[in-house]
Amino acid sequence: MSAQIVSGKELSAKIREKLKERVKKVEREKGFTPGLAVILVGDDPASHVYVNNKEKACLEIGMKSEVRRLPKETTQEELNALIDAYNAREDMHGLLVQFPLPAHLSQEEVLARISPKKDVDGLTVQNSGALLSGLPGLVSCTPKGVIRLIKSTGVEIAGKHAVVIGRSNLVGKPVSVLLLNENATVTMCHSKTKNLPEVCAQADILVAAIGRAEFVTGNFIKPGAVVIDVGTSRVDGKLKGDVKFDEAVEKAAYITPVPGGVGPMTITMLLENTIDAAEMFH
Ligand code: NAP
Repeated sequence: MSAQIVSGKELSAKIREKLKERVKKVEREKGFTPGLAVILVGDDPASHVYVNNKEKACLEIGMKSEVRRLPKETTQEELNALIDAYNAREDMHGLLVQFPLPAHLSQEEVLARISPKKDVDGLTVQNSGALLSGLPGLVSCTPKGVIRLIKSTGVEIAGKHAVVIGRSNLVGKPVSVLLLNENATVTMCHSKTKNLPEVCAQADILVAAIGRAEFVTGNFIKPGAVVIDVGTSRVDGKLKGDVKFDEAVEKAAYITPVPGGVGPMTITMLLENTIDAAEMFH
């Protein structure tokens, strides 16, 4: 049996069509256009590609986008002042600072400064705390995309055993909480987990967010599982996921590819969060 491929590209395209309509509705009914501000410090090539993609995606659905590209010598004080200015701007409803930052700048200080109402990455303590407490807030984009991909398969999450490999604040932890909120029985794994393949082989839903190319081999997969591959690593110039696709595809019922799986959903959820922020808080 070969798994059904769950295309994040196709799901994203469908969601973005609906978001386009929501942008028009906000313009018609509220008289403004949702806008996303992005601050990028330094010259990390991958970050420049990500930010360009975010800008393009905003414009494609009719939103406003403003990107401030700052030199790597930018001081914390200068960055803080720019964050304060965007927090106060009424025409920008979402604000994100692209990570990683140059080493002399503090990610913690940045996240403490961004207004939770504009935190469309869902990374401030207020929004991650809201998620943990089951309160409304802006949910981090990649984890939100993971849940949408699972739901798109039609497989019921409630009552299933979900195993998440990775426990970062960015992916593993919020994915686990979202799955728990959907009434899955959740096991969180990390680098100290013993018997990882055996634990994973019990998963009805397996989410890999490690950052090690093709680490999850066929023996990790329970026959008929839903496999969501968050990982992205460059190997000989090619983008690879955490899952050894050729082996997993023979055992799983549903699997996301890399590229074209979780990646496109992350940007789509960023667009959705910006429109949500505009509607909720403007
Ligand atoms: P991270 O902060 O480096 O966390 C990696 C996690 O994997 C850690 O919790 C680590 O465990 C765990 N891990 C590492 N080696 C392991 C092993 N041998 N066995 C079990 N667990 C292991 O990375 P991240 O930010 O969560 O990102 C994870 C991956 O997703 C990366 O490849 C990243 O590029 C990708 N990503 C993709 C998107 C997208 O839009 N497609 C978005 C975000 C991230 P410890 O905590 O014990 O160290």
